This record gives sequence, structure tokens and C-alpha cells, in this order.
Amino acid sequence: MTKISGIHHVTAISGAAQANVDFFTGVLGQKLVKKTVNFDDPGTYHLYYGDAAGSPGTILTFFPFADAGPGRAGPGMASAYAYAIPAGDFDQITDDLAARGLATAGTGLRFGERFITLRDPDGAPVELIESTAAQDTHGFHSVTLWERDPERTVKLLTEVFGYEKAGTEQEGATERQRLIAPGAERGRILDVIRVAGAQPGRQGAGTIHHIAFRTKDDAEQKEWMERLAHAGHRTTPVTDRQYFNAIYFREPGGVLFEIATDPPGFAIDEPAHSLGQALKLPPRYEPMRDRIERVLPPLRVRS
Ligand code: ZN
Repeated sequence: MTKISGIHHVTAISGAAQANVDFFTGVLGQKLVKKTVNFDDPGTYHLYYGDAAGSPGTILTFFPFADAGPGRAGPGMASAYAYAIPAGDFDQITDDLAARGLATAGTGLRFGERFITLRDPDGAPVELIESTAAQDTHGFHSVTLWERDPERTVKLLTEVFGYEKAGTEQEGATERQRLIAPGAERGRILDVIRVAGAQPGRQGAGTIHHIAFRTKDDAEQKEWMERLAHAGHRTTPVTDRQYFNAIYFREPGGVLFEIATDPPGFAIDEPAHSLGQALKLPPRYEPMRDRIERVLPPLRVRS
């Protein structure tokens, strides 16, 4: 039976776009691989970061709302994502970040691997985890789901998606359960946490909006729709997101899950060597380009 092969992308909400670009490209060295608009709200950007090709498992996307109020992670939300850092680079990278005066919001050992937590310009956690499996600094190590009742979510992930249980750790008041997608390369780990006495979260700047899992093509995506329906999870119809096709549903704990196709990818509407440089609009918004460009704030991107 087909299994989920890890994370395709993570989508979060940020404040002002320029600070977001400066942090993710300038500080973290991610590449801006697509500059487009929110397809449901074309007066705002949708920014995609990843490796040079925008490979699945490296893609972090933001809806920057200049006037977004601050959010707060809580149960029923994805609360963090982590980049995998090659073991040989970890000390140098953490030294460089410290030399730039970037305060770490935490450091420690998780399932035997060293990690540090940074804060992005909106105060959201960005975790860097040392990994012997990492080839570069662009791939996700893991995503954390914060749940009030983890077992319902774990059941979906193991029984329907094919994740395997890989142990539990206690970090203070946080109980962390680890699940691994067998065979996946990047973004293969999901941690499901429960925190004693947690307050409800609030969507806003600095929070994760949804996480997307990979599927290899439209036919396999259709299989997932059917299998999820059979397990009692109703998905949306297929939505064309220009760079992938998407279906969405809420998992039992409330986190918005997406299943996104690997194709067609980010080189569908601009040359692979200049990804992210021009503002790309889906065909239906091209007639409004002048108006959209006047409304969007200018963005400086260092290449
Ligand atoms: Zn998405």
C-alpha cells in the first residue's frame, strides 16, 4: 500500500514581507524560489523558500500580512518546523548565528540529536537540528504537531499515512511522540506533542497555517482522497496551486493537512535558474497585474 513520503511544504503567516525575506534568505541562506500572490487574496504576497530548485521537503512558504496581529501556537496547530543541518556544519552555523547576535530561544538534545531554536522576525520558532542524514541546510528535519489528544492524530498518521512510531521523550511539561515516514528522505519526521496545562492557540503572524504532505502524482493523490474518505476524513476537491495540485482536510486534532503533488514544480512558469526573481501571477490574475503590483510593497531580495 502506498505510504506518505514525508513533508512537501510548510505554510506559515508572517508580518511585513521584507523582514521575512531578509531573515530567511540573508540569515538562514534559503533561496526565494517563488514570488507570487496569495491566490485567495491577490493583494498580498505568497513567498516560497527552499533549495535552488524548490524541491519537495525543502519548501517553506509565507503569507505575509503587514497588519497581521501576533498569533500564538497551541493545541490543534502545527507549532514548529525544523531544518536538518549536516553534522559537520552544525557548530560553524550555530557559531555564525551567535556572532551575528541572533539569540537562541533554546538549545538541547532531542532523540539524541543536538538542536537550537531561533526566533524569526515574528517570534516564530525556527529549529535547526544536527542530522547525519542531511546533505545540505535546506531540507526539513521534522514538523511538530501540538495536540490536546495525540492518539487520534497518531492513529491517522500510522494507520492511514503509513508512519511508524519511533519513541517518546519528555521535555519538561512536553510529551513528545516521534513518527517517521519510512523510505522518505527529507521531512520524514513528525513529532506529536502534548503539553500539560496548555492554553488555546490563535492563528496570526508567527504561526503555521498548514502542513502539506507529498504525493507523487495526480493518480496517487486521488487514491489518497479515496482512502481518507474511507477512513472518515472528507477532503476538499483538487485545487490547482499552479506549482502543485492540492487537497486539504482537518486532521482529528484540528491541524489543517494538505496533500500536494510533486509535479509540476516551480520551473513551470519561469526559468529554473532565475526562480523567485520576477513576480509570477497565475493566468487568471495576469489581467490585473498593474493593479496588483501597485498594491504589493516593494521587496528587495539579495541573490
Ligand atoms: Zn499548502
